[in-house]
Parts: sequence; structure tokens; C-alpha cells
Amino acid sequence: MTRGRILQALLQELNARRGEPLGRHTFVQVGGPADWFVNVRDAAALVDLVRAARCAGTPLTMLGAGSNVLIRDGGIRGVVLKNETRGCRNVGETQIEVESGIRFAALARSTARAGLAGLEWAAGIPGAIGGGLPTNAGAYGSDLSDVLVGIRAIAPDGALVEFEASELALGYRTSRLRDGDLQDHIVTSLTLQLRQGDTYTSLAEIDRVEGLRKTNAPSGPSLGSTFRNPTSDERSAGQLIEEAGLKGAVIGAAQVSELHANYILNTDVTHARAADFLTLIARIQEAVQSQFGVSLEPEIAVIGEEAPRG
Ligand SMILES: Cc1cc2nc3c(=O)[nH]c(=O)nc-3n(C[C@H](O)[C@H](O)[C@H](O)COP(=O)(O)OP(=O)(O)OC[C@H]3O[C@@H](n4cnc5c(N)ncnc54)[C@H](O)[C@@H]3O)c2cc1C
Repeated sequence: MTRGRILQALLQELNARRGEPLGRHTFVQVGGPADWFVNVRDAAALVDLVRAARCAGTPLTMLGAGSNVLIRDGGIRGVVLKNETRGCRNVGETQIEVESGIRFAALARSTARAGLAGLEWAAGIPGAIGGGLPTNAGAYGSDLSDVLVGIRAIAPDGALVEFEASELALGYRTSRLRDGDLQDHIVTSLTLQLRQGDTYTSLAEIDRVEGLRKTNAPSGPSLGSTFRNPTSDERSAGQLIEEAGLKGAVIGAAQVSELHANYILNTDVTHARAADFLTLIARIQEAVQSQFGVSLEPEIAVIGEEAPRG
């Protein structure tokens, strides 16, 4: 079988779909079509598919819950792999290895129920842990670097590789996977060091964290926190956007939230286009740069192709 045929056979076996609109798979509910879209629940299938795509020279894009991406209206060429590998195993009394498609919310609750503390802060993050690693996802003063021991990943040549957390340059919404030389690596699992805890205390903390989000952050489809907080200014990205007078600013279906100015909401999922969000993002960046001399960098990953003109 040729390399392309091996990939086609795998896609067929995994019930891949052609032309799937990716707005169905992003939190903000926008995004053009994928040439091929495939849900993968099994870790071995994930490795096989990544290797087959790489061998065939077909681009492959990973998607977790799609809560930290803006996919352009032209969609994504090649294969989009939606990672639904959700296994978890104990590797010590307080150490676990989790597959990268597991969602933060489910993991925070299941570890709390098992009497393990350390992930309560993550309960309200709507994504998967593998999708959160490139930006070292965090909340309420904690982040993944506090609990991460190491990862397993697939290198661009298909080799299975391992890294210790200390090798990943994890910082505020950054890592070697997001901004460095590991951008083409696909994370398959993460080993986390938790601590003995008390189930009721952890579940109460999870309820508290979720309650805070309900009060302080808008619900409904959005890009979440769109920009990283700048290091060159004491003000948060949200404060700068608010002070620039852009709370409530609208382009098409994209609107700066009145509640939390770093959130950009999708107010019309039927007609929304990624282009509206990109225009609003550019307008915010220009306003904050010209008024305060601060360059706001997106926290979200902007991926995919522009829609063809006309
Ligand atoms: C309402 C809302 C609230 C949020 N709150 C927070 C918060 O409090 N803290 C925070 O840090 N983030 C927050 N986020 C952002 C987001 O939820 C997290 O970054 C999340 O962990 C991303 O996971 P995901 O599965 O959705 O990733 P996706 O959006 O699917 O992917 C993000 C990026 O990671 C890549 N990727 C995905 N899986 C893998 C993998 N296995 N290996 C390598 N690369 C991969 C993708 O290609 C993409 O570039 C929020 C987002 C929203 C919409």
C-alpha cells in the first residue's frame, strides 16, 4: 500500500468526514471546513493516524475542545484530528498519567472524588488538558506547571518522545510547544503530581471556582480570554481594552463583552464569521497600541486559511 493509501484506509476505518464545518467543534462556534475531520478516542489510533499523515505528507491539525482557537473561514487543509482520548491511570499513590484529550473539568472532579487534591483551579476551564499545555493553562494563581511532571509526545518524524516538565519552558501562557521548537509535537499524555486531599474540601473548592466564573465571566460562545496580559504594563488586557473604550464594541457577530472586556463573544452563531473576530481583534490591538503604547498578543491560536475572495 502506498503512504497515501495507508492514510486513506485509516481515515475510513475511523469514520472520518469530509468537509466538516469546524464551527461545530470550537467553543466560539466559528471556523470553516476541514478537508478531513476525525474523532479519535483511542491512543494507539491517534499515534497511527499522526504517523500515517506525516508519512503521506498530509498536514494534520490537533483539536481538543476548540476553546483556545480561532479557525479562519477558509477552514483547514488536510486532516483535523479531534482528540477524545480520555484515559487516566495511577502511576503512584498521588501521581497520575492522563491522556491528552481529557477535559479539565472532568479531571478536576474525578481526581477530587478519588481524594486527590491539586486540580481544583482547573474545574472551570472548558478545554482539554493537551490543548491547554501549549499555553500552560491556569487560573486563580495556579497553572499546569504546578502539577506537571512530564509528557509523552509524537515528534514530527513520528518518534515517540518524552519530556520532563522542566524541559518545556512553561511560563505565563507560553511554552516550547506554543512559542518554541516543539510546536510540531503532538502531546499524547501528561503525568501529573497531585497530593492527598479530602474529597469534600476539593469538591467545595471546585464549586467555589465554578461559582466565581459564573459571576465574573460571560457564558455562551466566545473566544474566552482573547489576549495574554501584557508584561510591559501593570494593567491586564481586559483593563486596557476597557480603558480604550472598547467594551461592547461590535464587528458583525463579534462583540467585546460588557462583563469582561478580554472576552470576545459570538452574538449570532448562524451568521458569525471568523473574519469579524479577526477585524475586531485588529481594532483592539490598534486602539491599545495607539492609546497606551502596549502591544496585545493573542492568547488564542489563530489557525486555518482565509476564505477565498468573491
Ligand atoms: C470561556 C473560556 C474560558 C477559559 N478559561 C481559561 C482559563 O481560565 N485559563 C486558561 O488557561 N485558559 C482558559 N481558556 C482557554 C482554553 O479553554 C484552554 O487553553 C484549554 O485548555 C484549551 O484546550 P482545548 O482542548 O480547547 O484546546 P484547542 O483550542 O482545541 O487547541 C488549542 C491549541 O493547542 C493545540 N493542541 C490541541 N491539542 C493538542 C495536543 N494534544 N498536542 C499538541 N497541541 C495540541 C491546537 O492545535 C491549538 O493550537 C478559556 C477558554 C474559554 C472559551
